[in-house]
Amino acid sequence: MKPPPFRYHDPGTVADAVGLLAQLDNAKLLAGGQSLMPMLNMRFVQPDHVIDLNRVEGLSFIREADGALDIGGMTRQRDVEFSDLVAARCPLMGEAIALVGHRQTRNRGTLGGSLCHLDPSAELVAVAATLDATVTVVGPNGQRQIAFAEFPLAFMTPAIEPNELLTAVRFPVWPKDHGFAFVEFARRHGDFAIVSAAALLTEDRGGRIARVALTIGGMGMVPIRAVEIERALVGQTPDDKLLREACEACRKLEAIDDVHAPASYRQHLAAVLSRRALERARGRLLSRAMTQ
Ligand SMILES: Cc1cc2nc3c(=O)[nH]c(=O)nc-3n(C[C@H](O)[C@H](O)[C@H](O)COP(=O)(O)OP(=O)(O)OC[C@H]3O[C@@H](n4cnc5c(N)ncnc54)[C@H](O)[C@@H]3O)c2cc1C
Repeated sequence: MKPPPFRYHDPGTVADAVGLLAQLDNAKLLAGGQSLMPMLNMRFVQPDHVIDLNRVEGLSFIREADGALDIGGMTRQRDVEFSDLVAARCPLMGEAIALVGHRQTRNRGTLGGSLCHLDPSAELVAVAATLDATVTVVGPNGQRQIAFAEFPLAFMTPAIEPNELLTAVRFPVWPKDHGFAFVEFARRHGDFAIVSAAALLTEDRGGRIARVALTIGGMGMVPIRAVEIERALVGQTPDDKLLREACEACRKLEAIDDVHAPASYRQHLAAVLSRRALERARGRLLSRAMTQ
């Protein structure tokens, strides 16, 4: 199918884009188009106006400041993938991004588009949840920040008003010696994951877990931060038995039943993948310590 008819707008600045959003009814922002275009073609969305962000200046950047990585909303996923700064300071994102679709979709797809589309299986959404990212949006009343924990309101519904646009995302950086891992199960390479797990880990001098973050994607309407498992792990020695037993709690997480997998299979995947992610993160923690 072809998209429904709409008027196309091509602003050059954030102020112009916000002005158009304020003035036009039933408008949609276009970033990389990798989700919006299929949705238009299938007529899941029927906007009267499409506002293209591709020529808006100042929305594509990756920089480090104040112990965090700041990434612009229109930064292409492929630029994130090849960023030395991301690889060095945020290796979890580096590992996750290679699993996002295909190189062709990453060439066009953007960070902001992925977070605003908010598919519960999206790798970048899970990374933002794990790192406690902060989203910056701009609207007619200026700029505001949204903690990522409050960003997903419901299934594919971000906490952005229709007259606002996402301009940047701040990802706090973990200490250099942290362990990290992103693992997922998808039916084919490039498909959305059925379930994914993202883990970050630090140890104290006694080899006990000092800090841990664990997110399960694809289970529910929004990614789940496994806070109870995190609490159970802090202060413990991360041996195989501890990780296996802690991750068994995933079998009790709420999960969706759909054509791709029943809830019980998702719960099984969550238990297995979260254990694998934590084990891999622990391995990297140790290998880093040995090379220091
Ligand atoms: C074949 C294929 C496989 C894919 N596989 C995966 C996968 O495995 N994992 C995965 O995570 N994704 C996957 N995707 C989706 C892809 O990652 C998209 O790039 C992403 O979901 C949307 O990003 P985009 O920049 O293309 O946004 P668009 O498609 O342009 O927009 C998506 C939505 O976000 C809104 N939006 C975009 N930018 C902003 C902004 N700055 N402010 C406010 N709202 C905004 C749009 O209005 C729209 O509603 C796949 C896509 C394809 C076509």
